[in-house]
Amino acid sequence: MAYVGTVYLVGAGPGDPDLLTLRAARLVERAGLIVHDGLVDPAVLALARRGAELVSVAKRRARHTLPQEEINALLVREALAGRDVVRLKGGDPLVFGRGGEEAEACRAAGVPVEIVPGISAALGAAAAAQIPLTHRDAASVVSFVAGQCKGLAEQDWAGLAGKGRTLVIYMGVKTAPGIAEKLMADGLAPDMPVAAIENACRPEMRVLRSPLAGLPELVERARVKSPALIVIGEVTAREDGALAALAAEYSA
Ligand code: SAH
Repeated sequence: MAYVGTVYLVGAGPGDPDLLTLRAARLVERAGLIVHDGLVDPAVLALARRGAELVSVAKRRARHTLPQEEINALLVREALAGRDVVRLKGGDPLVFGRGGEEAEACRAAGVPVEIVPGISAALGAAAAAQIPLTHRDAASVVSFVAGQCKGLAEQDWAGLAGKGRTLVIYMGVKTAPGIAEKLMADGLAPDMPVAAIENACRPEMRVLRSPLAGLPELVERARVKSPALIVIGEVTAREDGALAALAAEYSA
């Protein structure tokens, strides 16, 4: 019987290659074929051996270079042709990464899949910005939501943010004004502290803070760009000096 390759769905973490798992680093180093997203940092791709084939399936909001079905088909085709495939994804493959869909497509075609976890952007960003996602004095619940997804307006986020809770929004830069409005309409205080973390775990990282009501203005004024996360909750104001900076910003 012909050899069928394995598809490795590998988390590349938020940027810095030092944040790869050993398993991910080893797979990238020995791969013959790497299929990667636009979010995967060039420093991670630089670990690939010379002669490895690198295929980008970069997706831009509104401009998909390769539709998901074609990515699935590419992975299956290569594996059935007998090649092992390292499918590298930013962060963790199973957190807003459509890794579930790719794994399903492979299994349906009889292609073995291994999933290697990665440091999801929320965890990387929280560590880099020194924001505890949970804290005994401030939050015992943490939620991850996608700010740009099907049917955002109908989603019920009440209960995900507020006292004692931390809300982390992925893909929320473009929709930040609507998100702030929605959360305040759901009863969240306008002075709830918020942090926007852009390019977490990369040299150009920025951490910007504001009260919830000022979020749309902050995103606009500081020209916050993707990839960025928005973290909502008291934990974002715990760092030394952050409270003072927040108060100054709010009164300005
Ligand atoms: N699977 C990825 C998420 C993919 S969705 C993970 O687990 O992290 C893409 C979104 O992730 C971006 O829009 C942004 O909100 C977030 N993101 C990814 N890398 C990031 C980084 N280095 N800094 C801040 N946000 C990041």
